[in-house]
Amino acid sequence: MAYGETQAMTKYEPVIGLEVHVELNTKSKMFCRCSADYFGKEPNTHTCPVCLGLPGALPYTNQQAIDDCIKIGLALNCKISEKSLFERKNYFYPDLPKGYQISQYRWPLTVNGWIEVEGREEIRRIRINRAHQEEDTGKLTHHGGSTLIDFNRSGVPLVEIVTEPDFESVEEIRDYSKKLQQLFRYLGVSNADMERGDMRLEANVSVKREGESELPKYRVELKNINSFRFMVAAVDYEIKRQIEALEIGERLSQETRGWDEDKKCTYLQRSKEEAHDYRYFPEPDLPPFFLDPKKIKEIKNSLPELPWNRAKRYQTKLGIKKNDAQHGRKHKIIPQEIANYLINKKSDINTLLPTQIIEEILDKRVGVIENEEELEKMAKEAMTENPTAVDDFVKGKQQAIQVLIGAVMRRTQGKADAKRAREILEKLLK
Ligand code: ADP
Ligand code: MG
Ligand code: ZN
Repeated sequence: MAYGETQAMTKYEPVIGLEVHVELNTKSKMFCRCSADYFGKEPNTHTCPVCLGLPGALPYTNQQAIDDCIKIGLALNCKISEKSLFERKNYFYPDLPKGYQISQYRWPLTVNGWIEVEGREEIRRIRINRAHQEEDTGKLTHHGGSTLIDFNRSGVPLVEIVTEPDFESVEEIRDYSKKLQQLFRYLGVSNADMERGDMRLEANVSVKREGESELPKYRVELKNINSFRFMVAAVDYEIKRQIEALEIGERLSQETRGWDEDKKCTYLQRSKEEAHDYRYFPEPDLPPFFLDPKKIKEIKNSLPELPWNRAKRYQTKLGIKKNDAQHGRKHKIIPQEIANYLINKKSDINTLLPTQIIEEILDKRVGVIENEEELEKMAKEAMTENPTAVDDFVKGKQQAIQVLIGAVMRRTQGKADAKRAREILEKLLK
């Protein structure tokens, strides 16, 4: 169903572009030798004249970060620029000690790529405008009337990935964001943890009449939204809000909005009048750089099999259909469980049909451990055995619980209900 179909005669189509920022997990910062591993560290201990923006300090480029940016660009089918350049993006804000951010504007490292996303029905290509290299800002915290600044994050390498306004639904946005997160982890360039701010999403949203070819003249930027779920909710709300406004003859204009999770609505943060003029100009302290095609080829050859290609291979070569994965889900079998089963049994996945695997797992489950006390005991043992996972989870890395569930499954030889195991673990971890 097209948006607006129920309320009005006119049908509308959302036009959405995404900007993703990802913090790289390099050892040092982008333009100095300070450690980039700042999370949870004593404020302002990872700083030097360069990342504090002191007069006369000179930046130099982190090669690992450049390589990581190229990896991301290659994975997204971008062209790697032969010549690339850093520029200064000027604006005043307390978290930006230099008064400008070193970024890329006219000569980004990688341009013109694409990625396939899955929406409501079909698989479509989203064009990637560019993936460029820049640096992070410091971090402000507001404390009872005063604001504190921590510059440990200032100058940490950041890659920005900008799409063309090609998204047509929130489903596509969800798929894209998850694919990128998975990609960053596969490439090993970032933990891409949303809660920690390793990965940040911004969406630009507008709506047009169905079939209209021109892009709307305005766009609303949704910013500072730190989870996939909130972003999807915000975009969905925004599409409806804009359609309703157009329906009553309102003119929409360029603005920045945030998401209010309590009220479940977007709210105005900044209107066009307050828009910045960044006065970009080439960074005079860093020469342009020229990329050797041989080196790019080397990086390309070093890339692992990309997650979406692997998924495709599983589907086509191993005959695992999407429905079969869902078949597993129906029986509350989590992927980790399937993986454990295959590894333990050294099963030949070339001959075994996915449904057979699911059935074998289910057969083995006869005599599922129902005893809560026993499960709890195993969960506790799994936690003692995996202190890092416990630590990560407590620090907010939700993913870490998978390790613990996996450990419980191993102990019970797959005879625990994964969902129940998760619930017990969550209870214990609290
Ligand atoms: P800026 O430099 O202000 O961030 P860009 O030209 O880089 O502007 O565009 C930012 C994002 O906005 C891109 O992802 C682009 O796809 C998206 N965008 C551009 N026009 C529209 C529009 N009419 N509706 C929705 N998104 C748009
Ligand atoms: Mg932008
Ligand atoms: Zn520094």
